[in-house]
Amino acid sequence: MAHLFSLLPQLLLPWYRQHRRDLPWRKDKEPYHVWLSEIMLQQTRVEAVKGYYTRFLERLPTIADLAQADEETLYKLWEGLGYYSRVRNLHKAAVQIMERHGGTFPQDPKDIRALSGIGDYTAGAVGSICFDLPTPAVDGNVLRVCSRLTSDPSPIDQPAVKKALTEELAAIYPKESGDFTQALMELGATVCVPNGAPLCHQCPLNNICLAHKEDKETQFPVKAKKKPRVIQEMTVLLLHDGDIFALRKRPKTGLLAGLWEFPHLDGKYSIAQILEYLEQQGITVSDVEKTIEKVHIFTHKEWHMTGVFLSCQKGGPYTWSVPSDYALPTAFRIFLES
Ligand code: SF4
Repeated sequence: MAHLFSLLPQLLLPWYRQHRRDLPWRKDKEPYHVWLSEIMLQQTRVEAVKGYYTRFLERLPTIADLAQADEETLYKLWEGLGYYSRVRNLHKAAVQIMERHGGTFPQDPKDIRALSGIGDYTAGAVGSICFDLPTPAVDGNVLRVCSRLTSDPSPIDQPAVKKALTEELAAIYPKESGDFTQALMELGATVCVPNGAPLCHQCPLNNICLAHKEDKETQFPVKAKKKPRVIQEMTVLLLHDGDIFALRKRPKTGLLAGLWEFPHLDGKYSIAQILEYLEQQGITVSDVEKTIEKVHIFTHKEWHMTGVFLSCQKGGPYTWSVPSDYALPTAFRIFLES
């Protein structure tokens, strides 16, 4: 397969220069900008990231500003983007850059990789795009393109497959490292697409692609079988006194750590059980208004939630406020959109 990979730079670079999308984070090669965009783009669509990226940099224009930001500011800037450990790690890494590197983003791949929240993929992306290092950034897009190109049935979610591909690509990296990294990603995002048939007629690799020659594009990539998600039932208490709602802070560790939430009970509760529970919390309900069912899906878990809107007077062990003033994860915010 080395021969196929060696053809990639000459085929992909001219195509990328002609077809690259104009994205906010491609306006310069400032490491802070590239790093932030790569973290935001993990598990998140480009269109969804654009607004968040711009707002984040307007509020925190430098690594020093990010290092000094408080938790509430960070969560508010990230609200709705999900996977909140990403913003906690961004903050930790900014502090590390201030302490270890005097506020300048490091150039040595080992130093980049040592920062919180930066794995092989992000280190490869920042290293190649910002510093022209021959460091591949192998994500799902790149794995898909290469598995189709070489008609390779190895499961792409196995770490050994990713490692082997990273080494093979590093061996053929051209001096235009940043453009090459982005060309591979761009091809996977816009042409060799994940869902449905790839757009092979537009692809600069269609003369050499083995899956295309064999008419087997959609049989690749191969993935190992996933474990089913754990299903968790919960009863969400939407206690409100006019426009203000009862809120509480989640624990400092675990899923959605440190964010705000509506109070909830594990399991499914009847209205009578809910009223009894609230009485114990010192809350008297004046009206049971409506019940709404919602499902929120995380990577390994599904929350099957029954939200109960209850009119009451503020009190009990909660913080009472307008929810928009707090960073409320999407899993809870969806009830307010009802
Ligand atoms: S020819 Fe088709 S399957 Fe092969 S890399 Fe291009 S888009 Fe993907």
